[in-house]
Amino acid sequence: MPSSETSGPPQWLHDSDRLRDAVAALEPMSTTGRLAALRSSLADVCDVAVINKPANIRWLTGFTGSNGLVVVSPERLILATDERYGDQAASQLASAGIEAEVRISRGLYAVVSEHLISTKVGLEGHHITWDDQRTVQAMVEGGSVVPIGQVVEGLRRHKDPGELARLELACRIADASLAEVLSEFVDGRHRTERDVAVALERAMAERGAEDRSFPTIVASGPNSARPHAQPSNRTMSSGDLLVIDMGAKVDGYGSDMTRSFAVGGFTAETERMYRAVEESQAGGVQLVASGVGADAVHRATRSVLDEHGLVEYFIHGTGHGIGLEIHEGPFLSSTTDDTLRTGYVVTVEPGVYIPEVGGVRIEDSVLVTEDGNRRLTNHPKDPVLAV
Ligand code: ZN
Ligand code: ZN
Repeated sequence: MPSSETSGPPQWLHDSDRLRDAVAALEPMSTTGRLAALRSSLADVCDVAVINKPANIRWLTGFTGSNGLVVVSPERLILATDERYGDQAASQLASAGIEAEVRISRGLYAVVSEHLISTKVGLEGHHITWDDQRTVQAMVEGGSVVPIGQVVEGLRRHKDPGELARLELACRIADASLAEVLSEFVDGRHRTERDVAVALERAMAERGAEDRSFPTIVASGPNSARPHAQPSNRTMSSGDLLVIDMGAKVDGYGSDMTRSFAVGGFTAETERMYRAVEESQAGGVQLVASGVGADAVHRATRSVLDEHGLVEYFIHGTGHGIGLEIHEGPFLSSTTDDTLRTGYVVTVEPGVYIPEVGGVRIEDSVLVTEDGNRRLTNHPKDPVLAV
C-alpha cells in the first residue's frame, strides 16, 4: 500500500524506544541446562573436556572474555582466564546461574593441568591450535587425547526461550531499521552504498542493538553480483539492482535478513531474476519444518531457479543457522546430513548473481516450530525503489 494511504505516521517512528526498552528488559539466561546436556553428550566420549572456542564457552557459562577455557568433567567445572577478566568472569557466571571454579592465570592450560593427567581428555579439534593441542598432549602423561567434534555446536542448534527472545528482538530491530532508512532513501538521502550501510547500522544502534551481527552489505549495480560485496562509494542510480544484507546483534545473538531492490524500477532481465529468486525463497521457507532434511530445502530452492534457467547463477548454499555466530549449524546445502528440528533458527537465502548485470538475494531468518515455521524477519518484500 502506498504510504499516502496509511493512517498516521509510519511504524518505525514509534518503535525505537519500544525496542530499546525490550532489549533492556531481557532477563539473564540460565545456562545450567546446557551444561547438563553437554555432560550427557560427553559421557561415552571422554573423562574431561576442554572447551576453548569462545562462542561455546559463552553458551555454556555466560562468560564473554576473549581469552579463556573451560574444563568440564562429570563433577567439576573450571573456567580459566587471565587477570583482565577476573571480575567479569565472576559476575557473568553468577548471572548464568553457574557455579564454577575460576582460575586466573596467563597460562590457561598450565593452571588446569592437574585435571588432565591420566584421563581421557576431549578437545575441540576444529578450534584448538596445534600448539595448544601439543601442550595438552604433553600434560596427560598416562592418559589420552580425543577429539570431541562439534558437540557443543550441535547442542547450540536448538534455541531455548532466552535465546529466541534475543533473536526475535534482533530481527525486529533489523526490520524497523531497514524501514526507516528506505524511507529516507526515497527522499534522496544516503546515495552511496557506504552511506546506506552507515545509516542502517546507526538505526540499529538507536534501537538497542549492541552491534551489527556482521558487516552490513549494501551492493548496487554490478557490485550486487558479488554475494559478499563490501559497501563502496558507488552512487546508486536508476536501473541498478541493490542488495542489502543486514543484521542486528542483541546480547550476543545476531539476526540475518536480505532484501533486494530495483532502483527506479525493473528491466525485463532484472525482473526475471527477482521473480525467480522470490519464488525460490518462498518455496524454501514453505518447506522448513521439523523432520525435514536441511538438504531438501536447498534442493527445493535450486529446483525453482533451475525451472527459470538461472540455477547456474546460484553460487552458495541456501542457508545456515544463526545464534551466537552468524553462520552456525545447521547448514542448508547439498553436503549436509542435518535434519531440521523444532527450536532451530535458520536462514533461507537463495540468490542469483550475473556478472556485470547484478545480483538478487532474498533472505529471512526462520524459526522451526512444532507445526511448521515462523518467519522472524518480516520487512516487506517490496522491490521497486523510487528515486
Ligand atoms: Zn544475510
Ligand atoms: Zn545469511
